[in-house]
Amino acid sequence: MLTLNISKDEPSSSQDTLFDIAIIGSGPAGMTAAIYSSRALLKTLVIEKLGAGGQAAVTDLIENYPGFPDGINGFELTRRMEEQAKKFGTHFENAEVQEITKDSNLNVFIIKAPGVEFKAKSVIIATGTSPKRLGVKGESTYIGRGLSTCATCDGPLYRDKTVAVVGGGDSALDEGLFLTRFAKKVYVIHRRNEFRAVKILQKRARENPKMEFLCERVVEEIIGDEKIRRVRLKNVKTGEESELEVDGLFLYIGLIPNTRMVNVKKDESGYIITDDAMQTSVKGIFAAGDCRKTHLRQVSTAIGDGAIAAHFAEKYVEELSIKDGKSFDGIPCSLK
Ligand code: NAP
Repeated sequence: MLTLNISKDEPSSSQDTLFDIAIIGSGPAGMTAAIYSSRALLKTLVIEKLGAGGQAAVTDLIENYPGFPDGINGFELTRRMEEQAKKFGTHFENAEVQEITKDSNLNVFIIKAPGVEFKAKSVIIATGTSPKRLGVKGESTYIGRGLSTCATCDGPLYRDKTVAVVGGGDSALDEGLFLTRFAKKVYVIHRRNEFRAVKILQKRARENPKMEFLCERVVEEIIGDEKIRRVRLKNVKTGEESELEVDGLFLYIGLIPNTRMVNVKKDESGYIITDDAMQTSVKGIFAAGDCRKTHLRQVSTAIGDGAIAAHFAEKYVEELSIKDGKSFDGIPCSLK
């Protein structure tokens, strides 16, 4: 059997190293880019804010990622991706990137985070998205005290309790269904009378006896003492107000792209605009996964983006070397 023996020359300090490719974010898009880039023997850095895996890591069961007929736990899938990237020599750093600038004389990108700076010839933005907030009274008081954006993390705290999810997309129904494993009742509060979630999730949610839909309603206020006790709802058609007693409230009202740190062309919602090579409006900066303007945001699409971004980032780095007069640094054919 052929075994790959790739040297993992850890730089003495990653701040002193000029990386070929720096990847910001370690969800499926970032991790795939890292696997492709480090396997192509490029000096690869992944900068992650918290733990590896991004939003996918807090998804209980991913059922539509090919190759796992019974689904796979998101944490387990992304843990395996990280292991694979490390096997090929990817270097990981923890930092919250604030700004990316370019030293045009040296053709090098400077990636700035509090107290640290990294340098790379090319950058792939794979920063994903963060959950949107409602912006209603009580929201900031109860976050972490009954208000959550992560059913996988907090669901088990609501055994035999009553919870509500807000939203009508895939996340709201998927995570609402997950919550029925613990809670005795799961309300779905949705502002319209139609769900945008895929039909299979709608069907499962409708068939689940623990789930109840409160449509054409919005949350106006979150009320409680040291914990959430109830929410004030408003019927958007009639204007009628009501209160619903809940022990927990889970927000799934959409996502905001984490793209503030990079000055490239974006759409009106902040999603990065790329071409089909994942190239942004700034040459040498690529974007992949959920932070990119795209038609579908799934693990499988993020993975495709990551592979394409790494492929074209590699080509960009190669072109830079040729311009710099550096020859191809592969292994000569004559060398045994
Ligand atoms: P989403 O598709 O954007 O849905 C957000 C939901 O929240 C919508 O129903 C929206 O209502 C509602 N909403 C937005 N702002 C609101 C507000 N201020 N107050 C009340 N309701 C509000 O977001 P998502 O469900 O998080 O999904 C994001 C992406 O991830 C999607 O591409 C989705 O397909 C993907 N995803 C896929 C899976 C899966 O395949 N299993 C699981 C999770 C997520 P309206 O419908 O009226 O706009």
